[in-house]
Amino acid sequence: MRNYWFDHHVHTNDSPDADKEATMTRYIKRASELNMAGVVFTDHLDLDTPVKLFQDIIDYTRYHKHFLEVQKNSSIPIRMGIEIGYQPHLNNALNALLGRVPFDFVICSMHVTDGLDYYNGDFFLGKTQDEAYMRYFESVLEAVNRYDNYDVFGHLDYIIRYGGYETKDYAIDRYEAIIKEILNVIVRNQKGLEINTSGFRYGLGVTHPKITVLKWFKELGGKIVTLGSDAHKVDDLAADFDKAVAMLKEVGFTKIATFKQRKVSFIEII
Ligand SMILES: [Zn+2]
Ligand SMILES: [Zn+2]
Repeated sequence: MRNYWFDHHVHTNDSPDADKEATMTRYIKRASELNMAGVVFTDHLDLDTPVKLFQDIIDYTRYHKHFLEVQKNSSIPIRMGIEIGYQPHLNNALNALLGRVPFDFVICSMHVTDGLDYYNGDFFLGKTQDEAYMRYFESVLEAVNRYDNYDVFGHLDYIIRYGGYETKDYAIDRYEAIIKEILNVIVRNQKGLEINTSGFRYGLGVTHPKITVLKWFKELGGKIVTLGSDAHKVDDLAADFDKAVAMLKEVGFTKIATFKQRKVSFIEII
């Protein structure tokens, strides 16, 4: 069953780290072949990032126009989303953009903490693994407390992907209290959590976040969960969604969320 697979985290070649062949049209073709419910394009916006690669900002007037043209001829439902890289001083700039461009869906992600990037390793310098992970979760808690102009929180716990530590797993109990605090705020603000399947492709064998976090989210009253592959190339569209759906069912979710014009609706997965 793939007809409820709605990928809510997909990068086209407008994201600087995506495959040059990754066009909206090619993703649509692939989604049709897979008999998917739809695709949400969520290209990066990392304002004031220290990483040069991500410093180019998309021209959203052009992007929206292009999206509407592609949508006219699309054989499946597509939506225009965005993945914002949150930092605490960006509230006004992000709100201004989100007020101006009619996105269907907004993922709030953290790629930088204290001005230091995870991707290039700067964030980890001088920190033990535990200090780095704890500071990451603290900064996520600060983010969800300060900012709520988003629909789902992206790849919570993906910090484990970076830092070059010997083991990329983490003892989740150590961070239970702070993760539950984060989840409580997300639930209270009626926001959602994304299940990001890219962890499988990075050889971590888990989604971001881990299934335990998903269980806590449900226990704390969380209802909104989106599926996201975080594809940066067409072949990765909806990658490992079968495993993610099995996890959701195991935890007791019977529906996945989908967004249009920033409004949530649900698709049955049973
Ligand atoms: Zn991301
Ligand atoms: Zn992404």
